[in-house]
Amino acid sequence: MPSGRITYFADVILPLAVPNLFTYRVPLEMNGRIRAGQRVVVQFGKSKLYSALVRKVHESPPRYYEAKYIESILDDEPLVNESQFRLWEWMAAYYMCTVGEVMNAALPSGLKLASETRLLLRNREEAAGLDLTHDEYMIVSALEANEVLTLDEAARVIGKRSAHPLIKTMIEKNIVIIQEDIKPKFKPKVEVFVRITPFAAEEAHLQELLNELEKRAYKQMELLMAYMRLSGFHPGAERPEIRKAELLKSVNASDAVLQGLVRKNALELTERETGRLGEVAAGSGQVVLSPDQQQAMEEVRRQFGKHEVVLLHGVTSSGKTEIYIKLIEEAVAAGKQVLYLLPEIALTAQIINRLRKIFGDQVGVYHSRFNEQEKVEIWNAVIGAGGEKEKCRIILGARSALLLPFSKLGLVIVDEEHDTSYKQFDPAPRYNARDTASYLAHVHGAKTLLGSATPSLESYDNARSGKYGFVELSTRYGGMQMPEILVADVREARKRKQMRSHFTPLLFESIAHALQHKEQVILFQNRRGFAPQQICELCGWSPECVNCDVTLTYHKYNNLLRCHYCAYQVSPPSRCAACGHDVLKLVGFGTEKIEEELQLMFPDAKSARMDLDSTRGKHAHAQLISEFENRHIDILVGTQMVTKGLDFDNVSVVGILNADSMLNFPDFRAFERSFQLMEQVAGRAGRRNKRGRVIIQTATPAHHIIQHVVHRNFARFYADELLERRNFHYPPYYRLIELTLMHREAEALTGAADLFASELKKHLGSRVIGPAFPLVPRIKNLYLKNILVKIEKESSAASVKEVIRTAMAMMHNHPDHKSVRIQPDVDPM
Ligand code: ADP
Ligand code: ZN
Ligand code: ZN
Repeated sequence: MPSGRITYFADVILPLAVPNLFTYRVPLEMNGRIRAGQRVVVQFGKSKLYSALVRKVHESPPRYYEAKYIESILDDEPLVNESQFRLWEWMAAYYMCTVGEVMNAALPSGLKLASETRLLLRNREEAAGLDLTHDEYMIVSALEANEVLTLDEAARVIGKRSAHPLIKTMIEKNIVIIQEDIKPKFKPKVEVFVRITPFAAEEAHLQELLNELEKRAYKQMELLMAYMRLSGFHPGAERPEIRKAELLKSVNASDAVLQGLVRKNALELTERETGRLGEVAAGSGQVVLSPDQQQAMEEVRRQFGKHEVVLLHGVTSSGKTEIYIKLIEEAVAAGKQVLYLLPEIALTAQIINRLRKIFGDQVGVYHSRFNEQEKVEIWNAVIGAGGEKEKCRIILGARSALLLPFSKLGLVIVDEEHDTSYKQFDPAPRYNARDTASYLAHVHGAKTLLGSATPSLESYDNARSGKYGFVELSTRYGGMQMPEILVADVREARKRKQMRSHFTPLLFESIAHALQHKEQVILFQNRRGFAPQQICELCGWSPECVNCDVTLTYHKYNNLLRCHYCAYQVSPPSRCAACGHDVLKLVGFGTEKIEEELQLMFPDAKSARMDLDSTRGKHAHAQLISEFENRHIDILVGTQMVTKGLDFDNVSVVGILNADSMLNFPDFRAFERSFQLMEQVAGRAGRRNKRGRVIIQTATPAHHIIQHVVHRNFARFYADELLERRNFHYPPYYRLIELTLMHREAEALTGAADLFASELKKHLGSRVIGPAFPLVPRIKNLYLKNILVKIEKESSAASVKEVIRTAMAMMHNHPDHKSVRIQPDVDPM
């Protein structure tokens, strides 16, 4: 910590997309206090105040501008540590964004205070009774009158330049909260606690009270005795608190009985907030690894001796989770933290329970659907704020969990490492959490375990080339057999007029058979909604989105046409807008249509749908899963959500309704994705004592990818696909950077894109492909053009990025093209 009379300067990260750090002058009186990782209030631009983060304190003034003074320091302790800074800087450089953008993604809003941040009173009634300082009182009164204040307005209320320090304290004291625009408002979870009053705690009073109650209010006496028993209270000692709910339950008493004792001044109640981290007994879920699992785990350990990253290729239901758990136990026992990433938090319900049984409240869960208060709570629990030992040793989360303030990470697990949801698309940083997590582990000197039944080509290639360690686990746990995989030829069935709507006889009969035997069915259809398109019978016209160049999808449940890019929706037209013909038919089929057809074909079975539309609520997804687990649902129809890592024990049939739509998707990863999806969804089939059955419906049964799935030929699939990638210059042999240009006018965009591409080509030559309109050339009223840069793996990606940065700067300064947005996406998915 700097001290004395020396003049110090601090480089700070501003919460903006400015490329550089800014240097501010440290007022002498802050010399003893300022440290990297603290938030400070600074002025940037004409008059705006921001909370920025100190990156570095030093003695050199900035060369090109005069440093302004730091206004105030917000934190006593650093909020962000050196390892985090290193990670952020790597992310900004690698994914071509600013450190400020990474910081914005990392810090929960509860820890970011900007001029526009909106404040609310946490509890109106309570605020009146609080013991407040003069300034706090002014803010509370203003909030009582206005409901909402911005930070700027708050500063005016107290007549100071900045209200940041005051508001920060008021947030910590729980007087005010930050308003969230979209997310549900913070509701503190309160619990009521009971303890004996000082009056009743005196032995003489207590005796008297008990005698009295025994005669007149037996239930009350019972409850008071229960309090003493549960809390271990005895006269003359402390007055311990116990949970009200627990007390009432112990003697099956009603609230009225308790209120009686409160009125008699025997017991008193206090309301207190409790954390949302949950409390579960630890140590109740130990399992013994099977010999195969044991061997795989030892191999992982051995490989960790030689490699920072190990890929565990374990077939579905091989019990990878149990291996993770053993490794987590070891890391925790060694005093380390563990990060366990999952592609989608929807998946976690099953795993959270599994982990909590073993590690109790050492497990914290973190993902973007949490509200800000919950996020701040986990953030602090990871740091171990307030001097206490860090509470959460194990963090289970979706990609953003890797941005938490770890200080001694020992192990990172990336489960389902192939999953595309590890890639953040919008906003920047557009990072891949798998790759970023392994860099994070590297910063901490920790190990990374990537797990999957269908590894990505990138990781598989890294394993083959010896960059990663590689471990295989090819048997399912408990001797369960791999499912039987059958192909149903849709074209053939159509020709013979055997199709029942979208079901081949083979799939139909397999479902019927499963239902008869009280077994469950999962159906996969990679498209939500009812029908992807409404189309004019005569001229082929289809209704399109007004904001995007894409046809609308018909949703039957609300009878609306909807855009899946911008959420625009409209009632279906009754006649063709082009030719006026009044028959518009629906073509194609989505999950909603399948669900409806099932109800007609199997009226006695209960079917349900799992897709983006049916799982919007915070708990909707978990609810569906638990209903399916409890066998209240017979048939689950869904998009790729149903393929992901769920473990059900009564599913005997899995159907893939239309494999062709996946295979024909125009993307270089289409075959890889199709293979992974089919293999993953197939993995949901099978029960302890019975072989499961998978049916793939397709018009091209001989397609090599389908054949590789049927014959479970991983090696051939990887070999075929790697060859294609090499021939056509795609990952893992080439790195890709996709540059998307955006503008409201197509013409302006085209001019800019051509200039930008030619500038890039000057330096990068044929590595630059495009510009071209993407599949959907206009989204939300912005026209898009893409330029793809392909870089051979052997050459320096860093210098190519520098070329791109320079060309972007040229465009931003160009008088004609200033207003064109350019968005780099490194390693696009
Ligand atoms: P994976 O993630 O490899 O698909 P899971 O870890 O979900 O597989 O395991 C599949 C099922 O087998 C789960 O229900 C799990 O509880 C069970 N299982 C795996 N290993 C063991 C073990 N060693 N002892 C008891 N149950 C196990
Ligand atoms: Zn028409
Ligand atoms: Zn749209």
